[in-house]
Amino acid sequence: MNFASFARRIALLTLVACALPLAAQEKPEWTKPFPAFRIAGNLYFVGSQDLASYLIATPQGLILINSSMEVSVPLIRKSVESLGFHFSDIKILLISHAHWDHCAGSARIIQVTHAKYFVMDGDVSVVQSGGRTDFQYGTTMADRYPPAHVDRVLHDNSIVSLGGTVLTAHLTPGHTRGTTTWTLDETESGRVMHVVIVGSPNVNPGYKLVQNKAYPQIAADYKRGFRTLEELPCDIFLGAHGSYFDLTDKYPRWKNGDVSVFIDPAGYKAYIADRERAFETELKRQSAPQK
Ligand SMILES: [Zn+2]
Repeated sequence: MNFASFARRIALLTLVACALPLAAQEKPEWTKPFPAFRIAGNLYFVGSQDLASYLIATPQGLILINSSMEVSVPLIRKSVESLGFHFSDIKILLISHAHWDHCAGSARIIQVTHAKYFVMDGDVSVVQSGGRTDFQYGTTMADRYPPAHVDRVLHDNSIVSLGGTVLTAHLTPGHTRGTTTWTLDETESGRVMHVVIVGSPNVNPGYKLVQNKAYPQIAADYKRGFRTLEELPCDIFLGAHGSYFDLTDKYPRWKNGDVSVFIDPAGYKAYIADRERAFETELKRQSAPQK
């Protein structure tokens, strides 16, 4: 490569790096392409190595869960097309929660596909303001993203259906006010399996669980979310990040023919229990009298 093309490449790489929020630059696995594959029934993985997006293919069009980052959109499109589907057939766009790593690409996807955007009530103002009304990150310019109009406001246990597929939106709040855990049933080899796509039960660094003026009921919301997550029947365990359900460990086994590798009710229970312990530990730490 000559100097001019080398300089151009460096300039381009710098531009791409600057376009990403700092947290994303520190997490290359968020933008690392990952093979698209069928998980079960009409449910497919179309995300990157650690930002999970899911495609549900129905006779009346496609449902996409998680638009991820703005730079993720071409990757998701490539994944959808590698499975033989048309990106423009996405009719409904859903998200796990209103943080930019799961929803910043929504405006672009809606512009391209004219998909309808369905969002849990607690997250509606956040996505419609491009992150400005987020209780934790609203004042950080780097965490803003293109606003997207919401076509339907969801509530706890709202049903989303298309072409015979039925998804249920479970409100599991705390991480954001509208964090949504999606469930659906898939039939594989004559067996009906309960799929759970965990929204996020995690307490981010800097979250105030006690006396949080911007989100006073945050701790009670996390507790409510854990009660819901504990009660959901789960066969196939999935989530908003691949790391929740060990995607990079499980996928090679799937590729080697173990198509049941994502059936992991014990892994689901263990993950939720671990995250609840982490929440309780942090709540205790923040509730302790300051010395
Ligand atoms: Zn998040």
